Amino acid sequence: MNVHTPPTLQKLAIQTLVREEALGMSDLEEMAHGLFPALFKEAIDGRHIKLIKALVIAWPFHCLPVGALMRTTDVETLQAVLDGVDIRRTIGFHPRRKKLQFLDLRNVHHSFWNIWTDSEDSDYSAEILDEKKALQVRPRYALRQRLKVTVDLCIRSCLDEAQIWFLKWAQERKGSLYFCCTKMKIWTLPVKALRHIFHVFDPEHIMELELNTEWTLLELTRFAPYFGQMRNLRKVFLAPLHKIDFHLPNRTRVTEVKCINKFASQFSKFNCLQHLFMFCVHFLRSQMNQVLGCLMTPLKTLSITYSLVSQRDLDSFACCQSLFQLKHLELRGVVLLDLDLMPLRGLLMKVAGILETLDLQGCRMKDSQLSVLLPAFKQCSQISNINFYNNEFSMPFLKDLLQHTANWSKMNVEQYPAPLECYDEFAQVSVERFAQVCQDLMDTLRAIRQPKNSSFATDICHTCGERWVFDQVANLCHCWQ
Ligand SMILES: [Zn+2]
Repeated sequence: MNVHTPPTLQKLAIQTLVREEALGMSDLEEMAHGLFPALFKEAIDGRHIKLIKALVIAWPFHCLPVGALMRTTDVETLQAVLDGVDIRRTIGFHPRRKKLQFLDLRNVHHSFWNIWTDSEDSDYSAEILDEKKALQVRPRYALRQRLKVTVDLCIRSCLDEAQIWFLKWAQERKGSLYFCCTKMKIWTLPVKALRHIFHVFDPEHIMELELNTEWTLLELTRFAPYFGQMRNLRKVFLAPLHKIDFHLPNRTRVTEVKCINKFASQFSKFNCLQHLFMFCVHFLRSQMNQVLGCLMTPLKTLSITYSLVSQRDLDSFACCQSLFQLKHLELRGVVLLDLDLMPLRGLLMKVAGILETLDLQGCRMKDSQLSVLLPAFKQCSQISNINFYNNEFSMPFLKDLLQHTANWSKMNVEQYPAPLECYDEFAQVSVERFAQVCQDLMDTLRAIRQPKNSSFATDICHTCGERWVFDQVANLCHCWQ
């Protein structure tokens, strides 16, 4: 409902009922099913704990996607919902209620609640509740006859009160309910603390994993078996994973390599991985072949940012089948200076017909390296986002690059470095030169095609942290305003 729309009679009636706590259990048993969602939403908003519990007990549908309404840290509301589930299970079958098969504690299905509470047509909404594809209970879960409880978990250095309470509740019911975590984010939690979590949530069901840990290589090795069990991962974000200073007992290079191999080899077990993000993952330097070469499915996204990459890693790009369907390639902050970019060109040639995003910001490439990549750029017909900021190209080579972009009809955002000619011998940017050469480049680009969002920018100013950006006009950094 739009905030400016006056509340409907039904909504006013529900608000009055909730406020006056006028509903008993027997009223709920007789109440039209279509009124439940609006009533539930009202009860959660006002934190009417008794009513929340009663509504869960009487909930007349297969699915209860309550996570969309709850604040994750509200222990009392969570307890009321789970108490309701417990009581409902002890009561057993009721002729007016469907068996509750799916309790969704994730922050999803907002549209479902909005449709319910905005619609005057309860019958229509009732159909949506049980037939909406996203909420359908899969046959194999129904067969198990166990209530499926789905959550997303974001675990920081220690569990919060609601998480502790929920995990205890879940552990006690592990045999009789079916627990599933689809997205897991882990921040600096010791690996040993994860054991309890994976005891409740089978790693096999995790579809998105984010690791922001500072584990030692040894801890990473301890985590590897859980990682390998996450066979249904679609998206993985790894950052930075381990401390620069390893704390291996009797550290030797052999031990290090064993640890790295054990972790890297788990990538061969994923059945449907599509998006791989690695940020500051230095320990996989020269091991990319092992990771990318063993993937069972083609990636749509490969993002390796601010990481150390060797020539050996780059060589593997051109021959890893798993990269040949890439739509998004990001190598931001990966220093390519001094590397032979022919393998990268080989990869770009292979994906030229499908690549949509290419981010080479901060790769510190030189003119000669740009020349190597040009034939591949020319063929990138689907490219819509490109970023070359923080590379060291001179004016003639930048112009040559622009000449190779006539085919980029789908381009939306294109970002180029200001050419070397803008800087003086002390690496200071000259205002006049900047405006002049960037205007020249923009004119060149406009003569080739009609750009939408194009810009030329300097490196970041060491004083204020801003760039000078030329789009329609020259925008100088804060120091000059
Ligand atoms: Zn500045």
